[in-house]
Amino acid sequence: MTVKGLRSQVLTMEPYVPGKTIEEVRRDLGIDKIVKLGSNENPYAPFPAAAEAMRKEIGNINRYPDIAFEEIKGLLARIHGVAPGNVAISHGAEGMLQAMVKCFLEPGDEVILPSATYSLYRELSKLMGGRIVEVPLKEHTLDIEAITGAVAGRTKLLWLCNPNNPTGTIFPPNLLDRLLDSLPKTAWVVLDEAYAEFAEASLLPDRARLVSEGRNVISIRTFSKAYGLAGARLGYALAREEVITAIDTVSEPFNANRVGIAGGVAVLTLDGETCERARLMIISDRKKISLALEKMGLSVVPSHTNFVFFETPFPADAVAEDLLEQGVIVRPCGGWGYERAIRVTVGTGDENAAFLAALDRTIGKFKDKAKEVDHGSLR
Ligand code: PMP
Repeated sequence: MTVKGLRSQVLTMEPYVPGKTIEEVRRDLGIDKIVKLGSNENPYAPFPAAAEAMRKEIGNINRYPDIAFEEIKGLLARIHGVAPGNVAISHGAEGMLQAMVKCFLEPGDEVILPSATYSLYRELSKLMGGRIVEVPLKEHTLDIEAITGAVAGRTKLLWLCNPNNPTGTIFPPNLLDRLLDSLPKTAWVVLDEAYAEFAEASLLPDRARLVSEGRNVISIRTFSKAYGLAGARLGYALAREEVITAIDTVSEPFNANRVGIAGGVAVLTLDGETCERARLMIISDRKKISLALEKMGLSVVPSHTNFVFFETPFPADAVAEDLLEQGVIVRPCGGWGYERAIRVTVGTGDENAAFLAALDRTIGKFKDKAKEVDHGSLR
């Protein structure tokens, strides 16, 4: 049945495909022990002070949050070396991505995005009637030179995911300066840095400098990954003060909830050590997983995130399905045009071991099947 009166742009949108949830797999496959490595969550969180602060904040949940978000803006400003007026708060990074299209896109405006990146950029741009210009990745990395070459008079938004989801790569920071130099005054770079905490800081663009120079760039970050608060939905942006005002104007007034903010403040102020230990563990395990995958003869893209992108000789959907039957949730990357690639989140040591053992069984099984087919064709 069609819904009469829907905006035509809504009809062009593809629904977001989230990673499978534990509940879903339990229900569909009746498996009890499930290892969830499909949504790039933090397996070591919630961190203790954040959890405690959130429990306490429930007592105030009948009251609206501080609309100015003063405390958390102040903390983030100090951490990133900008003024509180350069910080906007949102309902997850996703809320901020929505604010971007509301601020900048009019029907017919051009939007530049990499061919394999976070899918929401395309859908939100389409919703506002943006015309998509897709630039292929180069060796799994955003091709900033080609993106710079694609900029035209009608370009309004450029979505740069750095590190990139799903490939886990980063681009050289000096290329961003050149891109920004070449932009018309009306074009804006959205730098989605959801995974930035897992990359080496010196390899990322200097956001505080770009903001203080008044560049046309908005840096978006989240508490969902390194800070382990995905369920609390808290994100933020750093940008020029006038841009922050525009973001706050188009966003719903109470754009984050009390519990999320309490968790965010606590994780920044009280959970520093635990959070840092988890971050370092994830980075070290990312290396271990990558080496183990390479040892299995698979090709792995070096990651700057809390996930690993790799290719097997077999169709990714079938590999993911076989892993699922063993209780391991990963993300097949066919939807991004990588028919043989899988994205796996770095989990706890036990989860990673379970994933590697299951993958080893899957690959062994698929190789045996391929051999049978080969022999069959020789007979
Ligand atoms: N950007 C990227 C690149 C992501 O991968 C994600 C979440 N998977 C988001 C934004 C959204 O994050 P949040 O949970 O803060 O809405």
